[in-house]
Amino acid sequence: MDIHPDSDTCIFCRILHGEAPSAGIYRDDLVYAFMDINPINPGHCLVIPTRHCRDIYSLPEETAAAMMRLAPALTRAVKAEYQADGVNLWMANEPAAGQEVFHAHLHVIPRHVDDGVRVSMAPGPRPSVDELAQAARALASRMHCR
Ligand code: 5GP
Ligand code: ZN
Repeated sequence: MDIHPDSDTCIFCRILHGEAPSAGIYRDDLVYAFMDINPINPGHCLVIPTRHCRDIYSLPEETAAAMMRLAPALTRAVKAEYQADGVNLWMANEPAAGQEVFHAHLHVIPRHVDDGVRVSMAPGPRPSVDELAQAARALASRMHCR
């Protein structure tokens, strides 16, 4: 049983504990995949850790690996079943990034040519080679921070 303080108010924990309904696709000790209740396109599904975890920052590496390990098979299934032309994997962490449910989850979203779904990511100004190198060094030095 999950004893995380957020788990009794978390909708995904309630789903995991069988206290709220869901249409399940796959489950093991670490991960659960199920249909999104409000799909962006038909076939939109979610992969979540079976233990409450708010977002990617605190996700145990083994659980993160299990989520991504499931992704190729699930993505192939979604593509075949919905005749998708493409599939987006998407994860929002914190409200500024669009997170609305605070139990880590990976979206698997089938896409079709001209489906009208917009993922708008227009790049900002292009950094110099030196700026990119400096950014890479700064991030590399922070990779072990918690
Ligand atoms: P976020 O914006 O946090 O990345 O996405 C949360 C996702 O969870 C949304 O796509 C939303 O439709 C889905 N969702 C929210 N509540 C429920 C629920 O009770 N059941 C299911 N199956 N999906 C949910
Ligand atoms: Zn939860």
